[in-house]
Amino acid sequence: MPEPDPTRRHIVIIGAGFAGLAAARALKRAPVQVTVVDRHNHHLFQPLLYQVATAALSGAEISEPIRGALRRQDNARVILAEARLVDAAARRVHLWTPSGEELVLDWDALIVAAGAVTSWFGNDAWEEHAPGLKSLADAHHIRNRVLLAYELAELATDEAERQRLLTFVVVGGGPTGVELAGALAEIASHTLRRDFRAFVSSSARVVLLEGGPRLLAGYEPSLSQRARSDLEALGVEVRLNTLVDRVEETGLVVGDERIEACTTLWAAGVHAAPLAAELSADTLRDGRVRVTPELRLPSHDRIWVVGDIAAAPRDPEVPVTSAAEAIPAVAPAAEQMGRHAALQAVRVLEGKAAQPFRYRDRGAMATIGKSRAVAQVGRLRLAGLPAWLLWVFVHLMALVGFRNRLLVFFDWVLAYFSERRGARLILASPVDEPHRGRAAPADPADDELE
Ligand SMILES: Cc1cc2nc3c(=O)[nH]c(=O)nc-3n(C[C@H](O)[C@H](O)[C@H](O)COP(=O)(O)OP(=O)(O)OC[C@H]3O[C@@H](n4cnc5c(N)ncnc54)[C@H](O)[C@@H]3O)c2cc1C
Repeated sequence: MPEPDPTRRHIVIIGAGFAGLAAARALKRAPVQVTVVDRHNHHLFQPLLYQVATAALSGAEISEPIRGALRRQDNARVILAEARLVDAAARRVHLWTPSGEELVLDWDALIVAAGAVTSWFGNDAWEEHAPGLKSLADAHHIRNRVLLAYELAELATDEAERQRLLTFVVVGGGPTGVELAGALAEIASHTLRRDFRAFVSSSARVVLLEGGPRLLAGYEPSLSQRARSDLEALGVEVRLNTLVDRVEETGLVVGDERIEACTTLWAAGVHAAPLAAELSADTLRDGRVRVTPELRLPSHDRIWVVGDIAAAPRDPEVPVTSAAEAIPAVAPAAEQMGRHAALQAVRVLEGKAAQPFRYRDRGAMATIGKSRAVAQVGRLRLAGLPAWLLWVFVHLMALVGFRNRLLVFFDWVLAYFSERRGARLILASPVDEPHRGRAAPADPADDELE
């Protein structure tokens, strides 16, 4: 392993998501040695994960090797390992490498940007029957399950069983749930229209369950209403104020009702990454670490915690007491926090005082389907085609890597005119592995097959 330059102060960054990568890049010209640690070898553009899960894009198109992203940054090195322990007093972090060895790094400043994981709100047994969407492996698993359900429906001899196989339930009416439900409806009504002989694909049922009184709770009510009517126009059954009581292999229970469904997808919540619990810090109920206005741990002036793992105050003067008061867990906020932490770490190492972080809200947008989206940017409220074009532009520009931008652009143009989805591969099926009984999560590396 290359040793850090001993003549330079050492900044360790845990996580190369939006926050960690932005932090590393902000240090490009700083007179420091940077070490980026991630348990994956790639940066993942999570906002487009639902497109991998619904076969519109392949995993490689929305990820970038971390080494590739930092290849022109001589002061940065990358370590593929999982950080499991932070020893704040000794200024050390303990890593576990893929070969199972422990590696200990000393640091002068530490930036923790480990993100979040899916939360089933304490019902972890539901994970098996209602997978979440947070990684490439999750997206491939969902894609396998959705496509396999259609294949099994073609083989079904019992009509009730076929209808169960063709029922897709999405739990959670935030942006991810809305995007997944819209894409599933488009697969049923357009993509697979002529592919099956035993049934009409548009007979598939897509149900979106939301616990609150409206979809897209963080958006203006008029946009929530528009998202709902757009989804219903695509054939999605939207149910509000509906809480799930139980998720089982063959369906789910909602109040007095049982919905027979082969595929349930979980888009209802996230929790801070497990590393948050190792920081001996005060956390919110969702596990996010309460940080100071400078984005530091209150107990340590050289540990910054940024991105989805942090509960940072929107207003530096007002401490965070609930999730609603914290800066939202979105990609632009993570990037801004990452950059800020990097620059403040350099200031502190130079003996200067750290400055408070001020969040610049860039707005929010969610896509519902082809030419259908909603967006709120500043005072601007958009819906339909203009919002969708804005969504396409913003997401293309935000993707890491010129090659990815080009590939995704061409895929979208082709899909727009042909209504086909290019990544409709089942990478593991019960026919390959009968002992599993259902499609297994696929290795992202399998994407090379596509
Ligand atoms: C399906 C989905 C759709 C989304 N859509 C949008 C959207 O449309 N717009 C938007 O703004 N935001 C969206 N988000 C949210 C956005 O992706 C997150 O806010 C953003 O990724 C947070 O960045 P981060 O750097 O904090 O965490 P992440 O991007 O999650 O990165 C965390 C990194 O830390 C690494 N890591 C974790 N633990 C360890 C450890 N112990 N050791 C080493 N490495 C570790 C992980 O491998 C990962 O690379 C979406 C999220 C999801 C899941």
